[in-house]
Amino acid sequence: MNAFPAHIDLKDRPALILGGGAAALAKARLMLAAGASLTLIAKKFAPETRAELESRARLLERQPVAADIEAAVLVFIADTPEAEARRWAEIARMAGVLLNVVDQPALCDFTTPSIVDRGRVTVSISTAGAAPVLGKRLRADIEALLPPRLGSLADFADRYRETVKATIAPEARRQFWESFFDGPIAAQVLAGDETGAHEAMLALINRPHTDEKTEEQKGSVHIVGAGPGDPDLLTIKALRLLQRADVILYDRLVSDEILNLARRDAERFYVGKAKSNHAVPQEEIEARLIAFARQGKMVVRLKGGDPFVFGRGGEELEALRNASIPVFVCPGVTAATGCAAAANMALTHRDHAQAVTFVTGHAKGEADPALDWSALAALKNTLVVYMGVTKAETISAKLIEHGRGAQTPVAVIENGTRDSQKIVKGSLGDLPRLIEAGGIKGPALLVIGEVAALADGETLIEIIAKERAAA
Ligand code: SAH
Repeated sequence: MNAFPAHIDLKDRPALILGGGAAALAKARLMLAAGASLTLIAKKFAPETRAELESRARLLERQPVAADIEAAVLVFIADTPEAEARRWAEIARMAGVLLNVVDQPALCDFTTPSIVDRGRVTVSISTAGAAPVLGKRLRADIEALLPPRLGSLADFADRYRETVKATIAPEARRQFWESFFDGPIAAQVLAGDETGAHEAMLALINRPHTDEKTEEQKGSVHIVGAGPGDPDLLTIKALRLLQRADVILYDRLVSDEILNLARRDAERFYVGKAKSNHAVPQEEIEARLIAFARQGKMVVRLKGGDPFVFGRGGEELEALRNASIPVFVCPGVTAATGCAAAANMALTHRDHAQAVTFVTGHAKGEADPALDWSALAALKNTLVVYMGVTKAETISAKLIEHGRGAQTPVAVIENGTRDSQKIVKGSLGDLPRLIEAGGIKGPALLVIGEVAALADGETLIEIIAKERAAA
């Protein structure tokens, strides 16, 4: 190790900054965040520094003296000429006070790390001054990995430390905390439901304890949206959950790149459905989710797009709740917004649309989707049809029959946001021909309305010309 890492308790202790400019302000924010009793001394304070710190620190406009430094636990020198800084560094060294001179590593007793701040939990990263940019990058990576409410989780655990000590035998304590941090109560805290977490924690602590807890207490299910395909469109939360999962049940629309981001030793089960070819029936999926959770597993139910947009996520949520399994939902980028971005087409462009409607073209039990066609045919409405490829002919005919012009622009986006993305565009009257000529098989979205003219895509004429040229 190049330097010894230590986290210094500055709460209500005297800290000093020599300097009154921007660098001094930045250090002051950090020290105040750590609760220091802070003094700044400068010949002159920048107006921003003064405005921000006046009520929170002592600002002295004068020359510093040796006694100022000797009284402090920690000193920063910023915005100060080198010769002068050297003089103060000498005094600090004699007094045994730890000193940092901003941007002068040779004069520093300590360096300031890049910090990931989660309240009680702090991660600091040091490259011992060698590569601050690398440190900042690592910081960004770690930021993404750590849940925002991690500090609250540490506070929560702290509140129960004594109680757990008093009620649980020393041999079982470690195991208790291990399963606590993996389990549903911690997930509740991280999800922001502290009230529910306190209730569950009290119930857990007040129950008679044995060494081996019934596994049932620990399992939980997260219903997670995987987005439209591009792994970069996964939410940070979804990524975190995938990296903690014991078991993953995933759909057909979840891409391999996304599965590759999951914890390596997570068990994976494909439960995808192709239309009219249900690989695993819905009740069976629900039964498996419940069974895995009851085995104490951290289960991720991974679904394409957003789990609550034509994803049957609502049914799974109900089934899990009915079975009293702790269940959490993590949203995802739905195909409509993912595909719109990929096609550079604003779904509610102000010049063209006042509303956007998501419908499914897949009829439950019926041959044709039973939709309110006259409502959907309204002008200034962008209609996004999920699962609509095989019903495109009906959809086109019904909308025209109910008053939408045959010239209304349409766009069809297949495999949006993936490498295999294909976009074709044309008019509502030509929709079936467009799908046929474009060789669209799905998964694809139909976008119907004036905004579809904005989509980056090939027109029917371009497709036909390309085919001719190739032939
Ligand atoms: N829950 C998903 C939708 C599931 S329904 C979501 O929120 O996106 C499945 C339908 O979604 C497909 O038939 C197709 O119409 C659409 N879809 C999903 N991913 C898509 C993609 N990458 N490109 C185009 N359409 C997609």
